Amino acid sequence: MAFSFHPKTTTASRTRQWDPEKLTSLVNPDTRDERCLGWAYSRRRQCQRSVAWSRIRRARQSLDSLSYLDPMTAAKSPELLVIAQDMLCYQHLQDDEDIVERWETSLRKYAAEDERRKKREEKDEKLKREQERKAEETKRQWEEIKRLLKEIKREAEERQRQQQKAEEERKQKEEQEEREREQERERKRQEDQRREEELRQRARKTAQEREKAAKKEWADAWTRYCAGWEAIEKNREQICPIDKIPWPTKSGRRDDVSQASVRQFFDKALPVHLSSTPGEERFRMISLENKRWHTDKILSRFGQDVLRHGKPCANALDLIAKLMVELRKEAKMRREE
Ligand SMILES: [Zn+2]
Repeated sequence: MAFSFHPKTTTASRTRQWDPEKLTSLVNPDTRDERCLGWAYSRRRQCQRSVAWSRIRRARQSLDSLSYLDPMTAAKSPELLVIAQDMLCYQHLQDDEDIVERWETSLRKYAAEDERRKKREEKDEKLKREQERKAEETKRQWEEIKRLLKEIKREAEERQRQQQKAEEERKQKEEQEEREREQERERKRQEDQRREEELRQRARKTAQEREKAAKKEWADAWTRYCAGWEAIEKNREQICPIDKIPWPTKSGRRDDVSQASVRQFFDKALPVHLSSTPGEERFRMISLENKRWHTDKILSRFGQDVLRHGKPCANALDLIAKLMVELRKEAKMRREE
């Protein structure tokens, strides 16, 4: 029965350093169990004599203990000789040192290989660590670059956003100001318009009032003039006193008689505007007036004394009589109006 080697720790603190089954095999390659380790020269193979089970067990236990030492220390251990002696039959006892030497060689070789392997592994590990460190460093640098780029982009975007915002605010402010200016202009325009309209209305009203007053004055003058003549013509039989003559002027006074004032009186006071044919009506009325102021008519109505009454009166009557002829001619020419 062969003990197998399990490369695992037997206690928490100790680790097997080498494999006893490989480096110091107690198993016979032909019988596949533990036999004498001596060499049978006559048979040209390993001895096949059995060894006491208790000795095998002891040798196994010793090898197992040695396997927790490093191979170089184990190679120098005097325990190896005891184990070899345990694993030899009476005929091969003299082979003990050869066996130990073989194990020693095997352990030394293994130690040297193990050392090389460890160094290689250490070197590989160091290289791997260095590569990992570089990869990590590269990755870290990339992360930093990406972070910086992101930061730059973010800042640029923020700057652009700020600029846009400022631009929009400026535009809005300008628009608002322009609206306010426009409102102010509109307000002034309306105010001016209102004031102008007010002035126009006031002027119109004043003009209308003046016109109305003027018309009334002329109408009153005409009424007074007609009333004067009516009173005179009621008493056809009697000679009328000179101071009752209704003079054809706005004031009705003789002193105001002049070419201009008399002409104006018949121009303004005649109520021809009521007629549908004012030209015709004027001509008719002026013709009547012309007859009324004819010198013969005046003398028959007011007597011969009227001419003797004083030069101003005679001059006025003469002026009117002549002007009436003229006005009649003009009215005749303007009949079509
Ligand atoms: Zn033997």
